[in-house]
Amino acid sequence: MISELVKSFQPYRVVEGNYRIRLDKNESPYDLPGEVKEKIFEELREIAFNRYPHITSMPAREAIADFYGVSPDNVAVGNGSDELLSYLVRLFEGNHIVITPPTFGMYSFYAKLNNVPVVEVPLREDFTLDGEAVAKKAKNARVVFIASPNNPTGNLQPEEEIIRVLETGRPVVLDEAYAEFAGKSLWKLIEEYPNLVVLRTFSKAFGMAGIRVGYMLAGEEIVDALYRIKSPFSVGIMTMTAIRVALRHADLMEKTVRKIVEERERMGRKLGELAYPSDANFLLVRLNAYEELLKRGIVVRKLSGRLEGHIRVTVGRRWENDAFLEAVEEIAGDSDVGGL
Ligand code: PMP
Repeated sequence: MISELVKSFQPYRVVEGNYRIRLDKNESPYDLPGEVKEKIFEELREIAFNRYPHITSMPAREAIADFYGVSPDNVAVGNGSDELLSYLVRLFEGNHIVITPPTFGMYSFYAKLNNVPVVEVPLREDFTLDGEAVAKKAKNARVVFIASPNNPTGNLQPEEEIIRVLETGRPVVLDEAYAEFAGKSLWKLIEEYPNLVVLRTFSKAFGMAGIRVGYMLAGEEIVDALYRIKSPFSVGIMTMTAIRVALRHADLMEKTVRKIVEERERMGRKLGELAYPSDANFLLVRLNAYEELLKRGIVVRKLSGRLEGHIRVTVGRRWENDAFLEAVEEIAGDSDVGGL
């Protein structure tokens, strides 16, 4: 009954159990402040729930467009940036997609689901993008996916390497889910490159992963095309209200980001040789400690393939980070886990 293609996918895994510290999903450890939530609730009280939301999410697009000083025609929103990725795989002419592993898994997930071949151009030894190698594979590609900062390696990609790929003229999705933590974004390049889509999210720096909203900034032609195929009502009125209010309080987000970045740097210093430098809200750690950490009630992300024996840890609250660091110190002393 179920298609072979669908059966080839693994069910989503949830780490069962009541763990005291969850540092596995690159969420913000900080919820929206109570006063911002109250403002969202106040606005929601005035809104009719019986009507469908705006069919192309204009209220949300206008708020994001104002924030960036662009036109709403340059903005599309989705139920998480994941939803937008599912369309971006289908939007363009061409054969395959290009990805640069190790990177975010959803690019190849949606490609496989749509029977689109995936061509891999691995990141260099130091996890930087090889723009020239990607450009070679971009010929006939539908789209190239580049994450910067990259997940799970945490590094920002060099601008010149990204530009090398953009110069091919093929569609490029630059996934900047973690850009706020890097303090750098290339979104303005959409003015110069009509083949560029910059993908952003409210799930990380804004601390709104549970709300589910992501957006893309791109030229009008791409945004118009996306709205031809997008599920019409996937971004609800509660979501749109929440982000309109959150954007009015973006200064709070910036404060939170500074706190997380400070903690990231502190963790990096403590981990020393074990951690790679990061421009995101997580660290790639060269330690085969997933199970040992779990035993101590700490959930991190276990990595495989080229990053076998590594874990990815989200920067949490200070006490959570301290518990993680303490556990690592204990575990790394044990030679079985490939510590110091
Ligand atoms: N892109 C990258 C690189 C990510 O790491 C994530 C979340 N883990 C996403 C996109 C998707 O985020 P969301 O759907 O919550 O917007």
